[in-house]
Amino acid sequence: MRAICDKSICQGHGRCEAMAPEIYKLDDNGYHALEEIEVPAGLEDQARLGAASCPEEALTIVDD
Ligand code: SF4
Repeated sequence: MRAICDKSICQGHGRCEAMAPEIYKLDDNGYHALEEIEVPAGLEDQARLGAASCPEEALTIVDD
């Protein structure tokens, strides 16, 4: 599973990191740091929860 972040949409709300801190990390300006994350095994539900919490719908989960 991967989590994809469209950084052109991210507004820096930080909800993704608040809901799923093991998956989503913010940069120094409060925006999502990475464009793509390989979700570690066992953290799939947390990844989905964090993606669903993004008010901008900037995060997409891809099941490989
Ligand atoms: S919740 Fe969405 S808009 Fe906010 S930092 Fe995370 S990806 Fe960006």
